[in-house]
Amino acid sequence: MIYLDNASTTSVTQEVFEAMRPYFCEQYANPSAIYSFSGTIMKAVDIARKQVAALIGAQHNEIYFTAGGSEADNWAIKAAADAYKEKGRHIITSAIEHHAVLHTCQYLERQGYEVTYLPVDENGMVQIDKVEAAIRPDTILITIMAANNEIGTIEPLREIGELAHKRGIVFHTDAVQAYGHIPLNVDEMHIDMMSISGHKFHGPKGVGCLYIRKGIRIGSFIHGGAQERSRRAGTHNVPGIVGMGVAATLAAKQLEENKKSEEALRDYLIKRVLEEIPHSRLNGDPVKRLPGNANFCFRFIEGESLLILLDQKGICASSGSACTSGSLDPSHVLLAIGLPHEIAHGSLRLTLSEDTTKEEIDFTVEQIKTIVERLRKMSPLYEDFIKQQERKGNVQ
Ligand SMILES: *Cc1c(COP(=O)(O)O)cnc(C)c1O
Repeated sequence: MIYLDNASTTSVTQEVFEAMRPYFCEQYANPSAIYSFSGTIMKAVDIARKQVAALIGAQHNEIYFTAGGSEADNWAIKAAADAYKEKGRHIITSAIEHHAVLHTCQYLERQGYEVTYLPVDENGMVQIDKVEAAIRPDTILITIMAANNEIGTIEPLREIGELAHKRGIVFHTDAVQAYGHIPLNVDEMHIDMMSISGHKFHGPKGVGCLYIRKGIRIGSFIHGGAQERSRRAGTHNVPGIVGMGVAATLAAKQLEENKKSEEALRDYLIKRVLEEIPHSRLNGDPVKRLPGNANFCFRFIEGESLLILLDQKGICASSGSACTSGSLDPSHVLLAIGLPHEIAHGSLRLTLSEDTTKEEIDFTVEQIKTIVERLRKMSPLYEDFIKQQERKGNVQ
């Protein structure tokens, strides 16, 4: 099997798993209890808090553990909307956000908030002058992702954060794809809230966190016990939190090295595909993109058919995001960068990890070549296209 869907989820590193193991059967106490058995476990939770904070230049007491990235996005946006509603009811986001952000914003629209969905350029980049033009006196929140999960484009966070802070607006970023993969710093980038998810950087699933800058006065989202300084109720997912902490430390240690090697392999993959497969295009920014992300469109074919045939060769890939697979609508991200429906349908996302090898990439490119050729042979659209080309050739 060749796994090229690391934007969807990653494997848990052995070292991460070993660090989690004692917290199931042996160190199982509820960390919020009084006895000393639980004290050592709360210590482990707090170590993880420091480990997660260190990677983004945050204070440990600005990290609030959640059950993943989707919860963190929902919390940040809904709670900020509620906390700042006296000031206004206008929110700015982008058209290419993850559905955890987009659907939350749509929910708030039904509650009487106004949302501006900023367009992006042909590479998926948010334009800073468009952000500035969208700001109104009643704007209370700007939420723009750090890097896009489908096409890998890295957004200009620092510029957006600077602008938000100059205008006294809270800035949230969904950094689920970026955390552990590219350098991030909450102070340098003027970030007030950041969503993070463990399973996107070799930690376990079902655990994440929201960074909340001191002074940002959002309320709790999950009501109940007094965990997480009364801001997020629910017994701590101790093994998950411990695992995410170790994964953060490993990511920090290897960030530059992994980034370089993934980028080199990614660029090799992109070069081969664009050179060897006619009528293919790269989606997303060629330079400002996540180290492991490659996203292509192949004209005259259906992305779904390509995925099924790649699967028969043992290759795990996706057409965009896991959330849209199963629906027949083309990706909102590909439409937002201006692709027509028929081209957006023929998309393929390959996302690498530091474990991906050149042999795997070579095998995958060969398979894509063969499959695309085969699918095009069966495509009436492609047949028409070729006939047209021939006619043009005859006229000339
Ligand atoms: C995966 C992902 C999420 C959701 O995170 P979960 O932990 O799976 O809930 C949110 N935003 C982005 C950009 C993602 O890639």
